[in-house]
Amino acid sequence: MAESIILDLQQSFGDLNEAVLVTNSNRTIIFVNKAAEQLLKANSSALVGTTTKRFFADPEQFEAMADLYEKPSDSRHRKAHAIDLLKGDGTKCPAEVVSAPLFTSSHELSGLLFIARDVTERIALETKLSDIALTLEDALDAISEGFALYDTEDRLVLCNDNYRDIYAHSAPAIFPGNRFEDILQYGLTKNQYDTGGKTNEEWIAERLKQHEASDGQVIEQQLDDGRWLRISETRTLSGGIAGIRADITELKKARAEAEKAFKNLSLIADNLYSSITEVDLDGRCVFINKTGSEWFAGTDEGLIGTRLRDKLPWKEREQVRTMFQRAIKGENVSEEVRFHFPDGVTRECEFQCNPRIDDNGEVHGLVVLINDITDRKKTERTLAELYAITSTQELSHEDKISEILRLGSEHFELPFAIISHVIDQRYTITHAHSPGGELVPGTSFDLKDTYCTLTLQAEGPLATASAAHSEFAKHPCYELFALETYIGAPLLVDGLVHGTINFSAPDSRKRPFSPADVQIVRQFADWIGHEIARQRDHEALMNAKINLERVASIDDLTQVLNRRAFLERANTEIQRFRRTKRPLTAVMIDIDKFKAINDNNGHAAGDAVLKRFADIINGALRAVDVFGRVGGEEFCLILHNTEIEDALMVSERLRQKIIEQCQFEEIDQLITCSMGLAPAAREEIEFSTLMQKADMALYEAKTTGRNKCIVYKDEMAPAGL
Ligand code: GH3
Ligand code: MG
Ligand code: MG
Repeated sequence: MAESIILDLQQSFGDLNEAVLVTNSNRTIIFVNKAAEQLLKANSSALVGTTTKRFFADPEQFEAMADLYEKPSDSRHRKAHAIDLLKGDGTKCPAEVVSAPLFTSSHELSGLLFIARDVTERIALETKLSDIALTLEDALDAISEGFALYDTEDRLVLCNDNYRDIYAHSAPAIFPGNRFEDILQYGLTKNQYDTGGKTNEEWIAERLKQHEASDGQVIEQQLDDGRWLRISETRTLSGGIAGIRADITELKKARAEAEKAFKNLSLIADNLYSSITEVDLDGRCVFINKTGSEWFAGTDEGLIGTRLRDKLPWKEREQVRTMFQRAIKGENVSEEVRFHFPDGVTRECEFQCNPRIDDNGEVHGLVVLINDITDRKKTERTLAELYAITSTQELSHEDKISEILRLGSEHFELPFAIISHVIDQRYTITHAHSPGGELVPGTSFDLKDTYCTLTLQAEGPLATASAAHSEFAKHPCYELFALETYIGAPLLVDGLVHGTINFSAPDSRKRPFSPADVQIVRQFADWIGHEIARQRDHEALMNAKINLERVASIDDLTQVLNRRAFLERANTEIQRFRRTKRPLTAVMIDIDKFKAINDNNGHAAGDAVLKRFADIINGALRAVDVFGRVGGEEFCLILHNTEIEDALMVSERLRQKIIEQCQFEEIDQLITCSMGLAPAAREEIEFSTLMQKADMALYEAKTTGRNKCIVYKDEMAPAGL
């Protein structure tokens, strides 16, 4: 190799930063520049004249490069090689070597020029990069969602395995470069999606619209096998679309289950006749059921976030606040309270307020249960009052019945209360309670025109709180009387239907009748049935007693008081005389020659005379006068409030009446009587003394000619009277 060439090489490459090494055609080094000396960690003098073989860590690489020296025809026959470089100091590095053949002027290969570069750092960088790429792929595959990236032309750039797994039917179409729409189309041919009744065109149009929007909105997609996906697509900075798909089939199922459970729970909550609410620590409503919404006169949405207690009067509000304060401290509070609810109804309530405690033991809300115990309380009070009414000695039978009607009217909050007696399909009011006295005992109706027909048919209590919405609306009574509310029960007396007890109103009732209400009307009916039976027995007994007394005090033949009854009455009269000192006269009356009437006309004729005689005198007296038969044909008369002169006038008139009216054709004897009168004196204490005096006057009349009236005088009396 000529020195001049070396000089040229030195001039050309000596100071170049790239390591340059030149060999002759026998692979012997003829030139190295400074950079090459540094790279190979060897001096030029030590290198020149040796082969490059020693720098190959792998001898095979050296062998592989032999063909570089075989007939290259073109200086552009450049090649790049990657070799493992063994440096002069024994260290290694990866190197990139570019070779170019050198030719003589006669186009013969004179050698090769190598430019070598240490690529340790580049390889490290490349490894790092590929590691990063691998990590990204791994990462994408590791996420449980399906990930796909489309470019600005909507072609698939990359996706993870989950994406392919999710759309398994579409997998053959899922390859980089394929368009999103084509993947969808392919999927449709393979029944990948549940199009929900839409045509393929409609479905794809809608899907593309969402895809193009890619505004991060979450959409749900159903697949043909029933799975559900949640898709979130967003624009990338470079204008592509990145989409994430999550399988939410289980989630949806769980959500549907939860919704069902919640609905069931709400249904239960809504059908409870109690208000159930949950409130936060500030007392604001978080949850409220239907009953609660009704009581607080709002909709559940309208009430959420509001403070329910603010809708109560201030006093009740304070009560609630105090209970809340206790509950917030962790206490389970339960109290009976009376609330005026916004729906206009006052309810007696059992108010329960329990704290909601979280896992850390802290109270984060209150559950409030309000039970309406109005009915229970009312029933208790009504039953207590019923007991008081029925057991008192102070009320009469009639008073008790009217008190029960009033009590029922108050209990049921119905203005009309009736006890009816039903005979032969006729309904007659026997007792009634009505605000303006509209219902009059004695009024009667056709049984079939009253709701009570139904009650009697049912053979038990019957009720409606709104006739319009029940079978009652079809009944003639509804048209005739327009009664919206009714509760009634049959009245049985000694096991037989007597009639009914019923309460009614023209308006429908705010709340339906409770089972307790039905029990109460039954109690009323039972008690009144017994009471009527008792009263009947009592009346029968009283009648028997009156009859007996009558029989015992009335003279059979003349039907005037007999001697015993007359003397009893006479004693009462004497006592009254002693109290009032009003004048009183006793008159003894005896038929003249009566024995002769008997003797001449027979005993029956005598009886007839006695009967007519008593009738005449009895018929001529005032009601206050007392008249009785005290002996065979002897009668006694007490004249009230009558001075002796007037008594004498009355007696004379009676004596005259006998002469005029007590004559019989078949008796040829003038029937007359004699009378002895005695006025009661101050000292009179016994009627018997007065009677004795009258008797003495009578004796005087008999002995001085009969058919006359004589007034007692003291000289008639024997000594001692
Ligand atoms: P005097 O004018 O003095 O009174 O004469 P009298 O005949 O009426 O007097 P007396 O007392 O002697 O006679 C009463 C008679 O009345 C006696 C009795 O047979 C009769 N007598 C008493 N009770 C009845 C009765 O219930 N029916 C009938 N037919 N006669 C009676
Ligand atoms: Mg006599
Ligand atoms: Mg006589």
